[in-house]
Amino acid sequence: MCQEQKLRAAKVAVHLKLKLKPQRLRKTLGELKPVDSSHPLITYDPDKCVLCGKCVWICEHKVGGPLNFAFRGFQTQVSTFDQRPLGESKCDSCGECAAVCPVGALVSGVKT
Ligand code: SF4
Repeated sequence: MCQEQKLRAAKVAVHLKLKLKPQRLRKTLGELKPVDSSHPLITYDPDKCVLCGKCVWICEHKVGGPLNFAFRGFQTQVSTFDQRPLGESKCDSCGECAAVCPVGALVSGVKT
């Protein structure tokens, strides 16, 4: 089972547990959030993110950087002030967020 299938299965399990209407389940599964690759070194894929908050914590406490959570519920994702793309934020490109991310939602490295 690939990563995307596991994510979909997890979303279905949450919906079944919460007993939400099928229309809302289909709506949630159909929405894939866009990958933010605007930064020259760091890429963020919100569909891989498990919202553990490690990147937000390290960005705020160790670097004083721009990462934080935005939106609520199923729409929650790691974002910057005013939901700007990472490339337009005050990111120092330290790479600490990508280093602590346990699932590879934040990845750092030179893009080819
Ligand atoms: S460390 Fe990774 S999984 Fe955790 S909130 Fe940040 S991007 Fe999401």
